[in-house]
Amino acid sequence: MILDPTVAPRVPRPTYVEIDLDQLTANYRAVEAAVAPARMLPVVKAGAYGHGLVEVARLFESFGPAGLAVAFLEEGAKLREAGIVCPILVMGGLDTAQIPDFLHFSLTMTVSSGQAVGPIEEAAERLGTVARVHAKVDTGMGRMGVRPEGAAELLDALLRSRHVELEAVYSHFATADEPDPAQTLDQMATFRRVISYFGDRDLPMPTLHLANSGAVLQHPGSYLDLVRPGLMLYGVYPTDNIPRTVGIEPALTWRSTVVLSKPLPAGSPVSYGATWTPDRDTRIVVVPMGYGDGYPRLLSNRGEVLIGDRRHPVVGRVCMDQFMVDVGPDTDVRVGDEVAIIGSQGGETITANELAAWAETIPYEALTGISSRVPRRYRGSAGGPNQ
Ligand SMILES: *Cc1c(COP(=O)(O)O)cnc(C)c1O
Repeated sequence: MILDPTVAPRVPRPTYVEIDLDQLTANYRAVEAAVAPARMLPVVKAGAYGHGLVEVARLFESFGPAGLAVAFLEEGAKLREAGIVCPILVMGGLDTAQIPDFLHFSLTMTVSSGQAVGPIEEAAERLGTVARVHAKVDTGMGRMGVRPEGAAELLDALLRSRHVELEAVYSHFATADEPDPAQTLDQMATFRRVISYFGDRDLPMPTLHLANSGAVLQHPGSYLDLVRPGLMLYGVYPTDNIPRTVGIEPALTWRSTVVLSKPLPAGSPVSYGATWTPDRDTRIVVVPMGYGDGYPRLLSNRGEVLIGDRRHPVVGRVCMDQFMVDVGPDTDVRVGDEVAIIGSQGGETITANELAAWAETIPYEALTGISSRVPRRYRGSAGGPNQ
């Protein structure tokens, strides 16, 4: 019998991500101070790296950045619908059919090719507006951006267009988080050559930006007018061995709760495929989350979690909605005990970088992979109703 189908469960899922808005604030301020007088263009794509697109954008907007950067039109539109009014740069490629939507939502376009200029000019003229544009140059990433040899032609076309305002020129680094600076320096030199276009013609220099998190940490010479950090604002270093020239701390913890704890005799296998069998009597617990929540299946027989202030191994295959942990014969882990997936418990910590390494990936993928099925809670001074 359904008593009242309109009422949501009163007690939410015991698996959740918690985001500390005060820590996000501290990270933002640390980066801002490190790069000054360059200004911030914080990157909030992919749901703010799993931290919540709208919540994080609102927080960062309150710090007065030069703007916010997202990957796709839809992310920008969602921010506008949520009441974000600051400039929003969409860094991804332009689908010509979406140009009117860019204008409607007052989103700044990234233009990488002269072919886009005609359709932008036409749409802006038709709608009686001016398109805000950042031109992107491919200085060595081999992804978005006009090749340096074609940059002058693209800039000519943009500057000729009456309904286009060329606000900025930018590029993106491929290896800024790596120890060898050679390619990054080379990309910076290429960028300088491209922007000499403006000086050579006595034109005012537009706004310039290059630096991602790796460059903020390792290449102060790349700061220019704006910096575009993403990952480090969330308190995560792109790699474990990058110099920690700016002090940041993770703002996200991922937790769950033991929903079953039981003795398991030696020789009884665990989970699909029966890939793990204890060779001694032990105790296993069930954690109610799995790869359907973004906990990688590669962590089968490989990952670790914190329960009772200690590390314990994930045993057997990670399932879609649950996985099992061997807590050993001598613990009294009980139903309701907290499980730390990413975060601290007692003196122990599991970082996003560590989890990513077990899963043969990078912290970017580990964080953005936490699925929308996992509720986000916010705490801290700017917190909403959940705090
Ligand atoms: C994602 C992205 C960034 C941010 O990179 P981080 O390594 O997270 O700092 C900056 N610029 C562009 C073009 C991006 O795609």
